Order: sequence, then structure tokens, then C-alpha cells
Amino acid sequence: MSERLVLRGVKRVSGETVDIVIADGRIREVTEAGSGSGDRVMDFSGVYVSSGWIDLHVHAFPEFDPYGDEIDEIGVKQGVTSIVDAGSCGADRIGDLVASGKRARTHLYAFLNISRIGLQRIDELSHLEWIDREKAADAVHRYKDSIVGLKARISRSVVKESGLQPLVMARALSEQLSLPLMVHIGSGPPDIQEIMPLLAKRDIVTHYLNGKKNNLFGPDGQPLQVLRDAVARGVHLDVGHGTASFSFKVAEAAKRYGIPLGTISTDIYRGNRMNGPVFSMSHVLTKFLSLGYPLEEVIASVTTKAADWLGKPELGRIQPGDPARLTLFTVENKPVELTDSEGKKRTAGLTLEAKGAMIHGEFIEC
Ligand SMILES: [Zn+2]
Repeated sequence: MSERLVLRGVKRVSGETVDIVIADGRIREVTEAGSGSGDRVMDFSGVYVSSGWIDLHVHAFPEFDPYGDEIDEIGVKQGVTSIVDAGSCGADRIGDLVASGKRARTHLYAFLNISRIGLQRIDELSHLEWIDREKAADAVHRYKDSIVGLKARISRSVVKESGLQPLVMARALSEQLSLPLMVHIGSGPPDIQEIMPLLAKRDIVTHYLNGKKNNLFGPDGQPLQVLRDAVARGVHLDVGHGTASFSFKVAEAAKRYGIPLGTISTDIYRGNRMNGPVFSMSHVLTKFLSLGYPLEEVIASVTTKAADWLGKPELGRIQPGDPARLTLFTVENKPVELTDSEGKKRTAGLTLEAKGAMIHGEFIEC
């Protein structure tokens, strides 16, 4: 008989307190607090539980420098049970990334960089011959269980003289392979006014709260019409905090003007994990609590919203019969100083902190 593990007294973000019984890596029962029975009981009174966090934008290929990191370091060890690598690899190395994903405890999905070289160089779209349609199609076919979309980084230092052409080619590849695009935005050219109209329903614009010159908000904080139009046609917004792509001022404007909160992702890699301003998913979530978003909405942005975009709603729920992928975390009345990508500071009253992840029937402490 397999062991029945009881997570005693965990709190849902809805406020309900329950016991969760797990056996063979699956959720067996969700019961009233105190009434779950099993062979082993872990007391989690006062600790929150949600379905396992999903980080839609990470760099999980440590072979590449500077944008790389170890899968489990940015996954389960931070309470994140599923990560989506955001185009670290193109067709040349995606096989190696998928293989290391199979050896890790964190679930790994990936956006395939439309440049076959991926982030081997950080100007990966400066030579159009690196966009090899045949190689990309072959990679998508071979790794279809892992690849969830295509990645194109459309900013000056990446495309150099190629301008908008890589995005036009990405759009064609997206239609050909029936996969959505994740488009990174940053400094122009290309101009944001030219980029946004090329994005379609279910495409993702990542770094939407960046504070650079070529961003999605006017000087007074007003959202640009191209952003409003994109939201209206179903383009998905993703934070992708990263070293240089999250501004408190912009995030405050987005909230003030009613731009819906997208998925919260980190764009984490070794450098911004160890030296900030990202540090961890918990730290990024704390920033959104400090902006005044309710806990339920913040957690939805790393659970149900990401799961729905992935077309895997089971990743965003806690339901008997499903594999147990859970994140345990606390929210404490403890002030913490936060810094955005512009070096601007805010002080949060509440600190959110991951305590552990439940995955493959195992509890991994953070
Ligand atoms: Zn990135």
C-alpha cells in the first residue's frame, strides 16, 4: 500500500481551510480541515496552498551565458512546479533543453526561438539566415509535447539592421506551424506602433510593463491605442520582469487605467536571481501585492491564467484524481523593500514567500 500523506490545515486563497490527502503522487481527497486521515501528517496551519505555480518566462538552459540557469533552481526550489523556457534555444539546441527537462523535477515546457541559434548570441535575429523554417518545423514536430509556442525577441539589440523582418517571418512561421508567438518588446527600432498590430489572438507580448522609451504607455502613463486594440483582440499580456523590463511607474499606470493584469512571470536567470531585481517568483509576486492587487488575483496570474493559456486547465486546479502539483506559501505582515528594473524603490507591507512544492509525490522545501 502506498503512503497517504495529509497536508493538514492548508489555506486556499479563497479563505477556506482544508486538508489535502495525497497518495501515489495524486490528490486523493480534499476534506474539511482536521478530518483528512493518512499515514503521515504534515501540519501546515497558517500556510496557503495553490495549484503549482507556473512561470511562463524563464531561461533554463545553463549552457548559455548570460541568459541561463538550472531548471530546478528556478523551478521547484522556488515553489514553481512548471516553467516555460522563453526561447533560450532554437532548433539547434532545443533537443538538449528538452532532455535536461526530463531529468529535472520541475515540469518544463518551451517556446522555440525562431532563430536556430537561440540565445547562443544575444543578437540572434540580426542575421535572417538564422531563421531556418525547415529546421524550426522539424524541431516542433520532434518535440511537440514540450514546445508551446515560438519566441521572437523584437528589440534593437537583437534584430539590429533586420528591423521588422524577423517579426514578419515569425508571423508566417506561426501560421505554418499553428503555434502562437511570444514576442519580447524593448528598445526600438522597431517601433512599438509597428510591432503590436502584427500580434494575433493568443500571441503573447512579454515585458508589457517595461519602462523603456519604446514601451506601451504614453509619457502621462496612458496606455497606447495599440495596446488597447491588442487586448481587445485577445493578445495575452505577460510580465517577464527580468533585469530590465519591469517598472513600478508603468505597472501603477497600467492598474490605474484598467489594463487587465496578465500572467506574472519572472524572466529569471542566474544573474537576476542572485543579484536582483528578480530574485525569485515569490519576490515578484510580492511586488504585485504591493501594487494593491488582491492575493487571489496575484495567485491566479501564476496558476489558472497561465494554465488556461497553455490549454492545460488541470495545471491550475486542485482536484481529486489529478497529479498533486501544489505550491505552499505564506503571506506575512512584514515590510520589505522592493526595487524595479529602473532602480526605483517601493516598500511592501506584505511579504509573500514560497515554503515548498509538492510534486511527483514528494515535498520539496524552498
Ligand atoms: Zn527572457
